[in-house]
Amino acid sequence: IDTFAGLRVALFGLGGSGLATASALIEGGANLIAFDDNPGSVEKAVTHGIPTQNLREIDWNGLAAFVLSPGVPLTHPRPHWSVDLANAAGVPIIGDVEIFGRERASKAPEARFVAITGTNGKSTTTALIAHCLKEAGRDTQLGGNIGVPVLTLQEPTPERHYVVECSSYQIDLAPGLKPSVALLLNLTADHLDRHGTIEHYASVKERLVVGADRAVIGADDIWCRAIADRIEAAGRPVVRISGQGAVAGGVGYADGIVVRALDGFSEASFDLTGIGSLRGRHNGQNAAAAVAALTLCDVGEAQILKGLRSFPGLAHRMEEVGRIGKTLFINDSKATNADAAATALASFERIYWIAGGLPKEGGIAELSRFFPKIVKAYLIGEAAPAFAATLGEDVAYEISATLDNAVASAARDSAEDEKSAAVLLSPACASFDQYRNFEVRGDAFRDSVRSLKDIEVEAG
Ligand code: ADP
Repeated sequence: IDTFAGLRVALFGLGGSGLATASALIEGGANLIAFDDNPGSVEKAVTHGIPTQNLREIDWNGLAAFVLSPGVPLTHPRPHWSVDLANAAGVPIIGDVEIFGRERASKAPEARFVAITGTNGKSTTTALIAHCLKEAGRDTQLGGNIGVPVLTLQEPTPERHYVVECSSYQIDLAPGLKPSVALLLNLTADHLDRHGTIEHYASVKERLVVGADRAVIGADDIWCRAIADRIEAAGRPVVRISGQGAVAGGVGYADGIVVRALDGFSEASFDLTGIGSLRGRHNGQNAAAAVAALTLCDVGEAQILKGLRSFPGLAHRMEEVGRIGKTLFINDSKATNADAAATALASFERIYWIAGGLPKEGGIAELSRFFPKIVKAYLIGEAAPAFAATLGEDVAYEISATLDNAVASAARDSAEDEKSAAVLLSPACASFDQYRNFEVRGDAFRDSVRSLKDIEVEAG
């Protein structure tokens, strides 16, 4: 990373991506000072050889950049104190994705850079595109919000393909980003705790697609549709994608099939039936987006299909944990809000639903259209009483309190069911009341289900 060689740079936020960014900048010859409000993080940085100092004590004049971790408030609910200091001194505030973009621009602007954002489906779509590119034999680097800091990736060469998941926070810190292909999947009200209003949230997401050589934008919500229309009105091409039907001139999904009707390319369809990792209409949208991006990266039709068919899927997103008798066990721990749970509930016909955790605003009232498909609900965590009140007399439920109880009860009840069904963990809640994060919650579910299987094997 030689963008900042010989220049003074300050950095705040020494979590995983902050540490990686600091190390990369120092290696590239930057004169870096780093800090964090958490003394433990500062200590850890010191052991990594990163110079630290309280940024309240440094001279902010003449800093080339202030590098902020995406988790630190830039504007909402109010700017972090370090942001105030940077603004007062007129120092540009950027994040690791911006630095990556500058590296690519200076070292290998031909390197393909596919950036993915949206409210839901980012990680799935990012992983899917990277998987298909790899299957097609492309030199592929996967990173960003999906968990691999971009500055730990191999450095840009003309043949490399970067597939980078971008959160709205990362886009907010990347004013100069120009991906070769940018995808905006969908926009719904989430993360407003950090962005204030949906208008602001949408305007941040819009920046990513406005800056791109080619824009791929969802056609299924009003916010994305307005953004696509604005970009076209400015004379730039847009590829529209949908999970709700075919799209003239774009890529759409209907009845298990992705239909590509892109101008300038042969018409093609991609059958997703039987691909367990791409089950459900929401994954139809993700697959349509991937097909559009891969087409723009000149990946051939047969190779795209091969990639889709061999996609293993991501853990904790509608992950098939296993089957006991006629019951399929699904880990959708990542569904931390009602919208995400809705996509899972829409994907099955007969459901034993495990839900609850740390409640989010709005609860599960918006999920009532799925209640007829729920045979019984098993409620866990702090949200249990409120969810019970919403389910009321429409849906049978029990307060299971813990995930283990819920799995045991749901397994017992579904085993007595004569029809095939799904035991679905799709909590519509954050996990922090009982678990460190949604991954730990999903792992606990998987372990719990697997231990049931052992019992069954022994008993049989
Ligand atoms: P993100 O990275 O944006 O959080 P993920 O790919 O990790 O998204 O998926 C998280 C959850 O969101 C999934 O388990 C699923 O329930 C839901 N989801 C995935 N894709 C979509 C989509 N295109 N539209 C709506 N919901 C989706």
